Amino acid sequence: MLLDVRDLHVEFHTRDGIAKAVNGVSYGVDAGETLAVLGESGSGKSVTAQAVMGILDTPPGRITGGEVLFRGRDLLRLKEAERRRVRGAEMAMIFQDALSSLNPVLSVGDQLGEMFVVHRGMSKKDARARAVELMDRVRIPAARERVRQYPHQFSGGMRQRIMIAMALALEPALIIADEPTTALDVTVQAQIMDLLAELRRELDMGLILITHDLGVVADVADRIAVMYAGRIVESAPVHDLYKAPAHPYTRGLLESVPRLDRKGRELHAIRGLPPSLLDIPPGCAFHPRCPMARDVCRTDVPPLHEVSGQRRSACHFWRECLDG
Ligand code: SF4
Ligand code: MG
Repeated sequence: MLLDVRDLHVEFHTRDGIAKAVNGVSYGVDAGETLAVLGESGSGKSVTAQAVMGILDTPPGRITGGEVLFRGRDLLRLKEAERRRVRGAEMAMIFQDALSSLNPVLSVGDQLGEMFVVHRGMSKKDARARAVELMDRVRIPAARERVRQYPHQFSGGMRQRIMIAMALALEPALIIADEPTTALDVTVQAQIMDLLAELRRELDMGLILITHDLGVVADVADRIAVMYAGRIVESAPVHDLYKAPAHPYTRGLLESVPRLDRKGRELHAIRGLPPSLLDIPPGCAFHPRCPMARDVCRTDVPPLHEVSGQRRSACHFWRECLDG
């Protein structure tokens, strides 16, 4: 396993109390594999990724337990300098908002080239040539000319390609993309997802795609982990999960996404809102919103049951849900 996160816990100390953002998350991704992490905002999906990358806001954020094994080494136990090296060269992150992540006063060629100058000790001229190569690789047309342009001269989709190029520069083994297409329109979203999937194959990288939108990742992910209130509530190969969810929350998410094969069926949004992380409901955190909830759900935290070889569900009644 390239990345193996085990029983991760993260808390935030706020004025109003302790927010339990991540409560025992375990997930992993292999080289050449895509894991989608799906959840509403506040589910802990971004915080988990930030803890993995070592870019969690500290304080107020604090990792209170768990391991982040990357190529067998626990990143949480590395010294900061070593951690920074791993973060720069072996893993990279792509964010939603390319415009605020790029430097507005540097040409994209200088920004891409800087990666090679700083990390690989290349001359400016060689770095510029590599920048053009990278822009080609992420399919930016006329790279040789556009390498001199500034971020604001590119469209949103092209800027996101530049972000991907930056992430790829040092050929990392793992890329984490946090809502990489949320700011883009639907057609461009699909193009960016296809590009990521293609690069993942070509370069045999592990890819973690964080999203709140099941529709966006369905075609490119191998496996999905669904998060709710800082926990993984279901994880499964993407096709299994689509065919028959083993958790009522996943079912709710599926029923709120328009699907071609379910034309004419009504879309149901899940009633209510996710809980405050300062005050997670006892028992199953989803019980106040769950149409299948019973008494035991209000008192007993459901463990992550093994549904089958690669499937897990944190629902007391996963069998009924599956038979649904
Ligand atoms: Fe619903 Fe109970 Fe399952 Fe939680 S454990 S998802 S409340 S049925
Ligand atoms: Mg987020």
